[in-house]
Amino acid sequence: MSRVKLGYNPTLKQATLEQELELCEKYGFDAIELRIEKLKDYFTRNTLADLKSFFEQSTLQPLSLNAIEYVLFSDSVRKEANNRDLAFLCEVGYELGIRDIVIVPSFHKTEYSMEAIKQESIQILTQYANKVKKYNMRLAYEFVGNPNACVNTFEQCYDIVESIGLDNVGISLDFFHFYAMNSSKQALQEADIEKIFLVHINDADFYPPGSLREEEDRLFPGDGAIPIKDYMDILKDKNYQGLVSIELFRKEYEEWDMEEFIKTAKEKTSYYLQE
Ligand code: ZN
Repeated sequence: MSRVKLGYNPTLKQATLEQELELCEKYGFDAIELRIEKLKDYFTRNTLADLKSFFEQSTLQPLSLNAIEYVLFSDSVRKEANNRDLAFLCEVGYELGIRDIVIVPSFHKTEYSMEAIKQESIQILTQYANKVKKYNMRLAYEFVGNPNACVNTFEQCYDIVESIGLDNVGISLDFFHFYAMNSSKQALQEADIEKIFLVHINDADFYPPGSLREEEDRLFPGDGAIPIKDYMDILKDKNYQGLVSIELFRKEYEEWDMEEFIKTAKEKTSYYLQE
């Protein structure tokens, strides 16, 4: 793999964005994703100019923005909030030269058919894509490996993104989500690699498909059930050159010393990015 960027997704509840930025720089990550809730908190103490100046002086690059959520079948209040958040992320992203915004579908209880979900996704993502285009930004649609997520397999997500057919709409491939609903490795092998905008790397507890909880059952790469090497080999064969970013949510990690966590994240992820 020529030069995949090793990234970090700042999910630690016990850390501020300032602390995570500093530690990611210290432990040699290439890139960091920015999360909307952390950004909003950061801006209560700092300005966008401060953030820009941090990155101008750092080896760490900002590489994506997470996330606009519950985008499908939402009521007018949620729609407005999402539109405001999208405008906010465009402003930040444009200033920092970030290309991708992660978009997450909604959840339901067997209410919407595959076709209804596809049509709604096409409508919303096309609308968002037109908005972010003038900021030179792209949308990375992240399927969620939960039975109640409207879009929950790679192949369903890929079908939607292909149907949209826009250069600035692709996929955020999260290994946990891929594994958790048994997405098809063959579908990944056959996919157009240009449609995979970014990768979230992580591991998962040993539970059957459909029962993993995305906020609780993630583990450091190498500690769980996910055949990470197989997934990375597929990406390597396809000459994937984007971001591979560690994204972990797990209650016990919130008890960890933040420096120890980031150091461990770097070590355990680097193992899978060796040539
Ligand atoms: Zn993710």
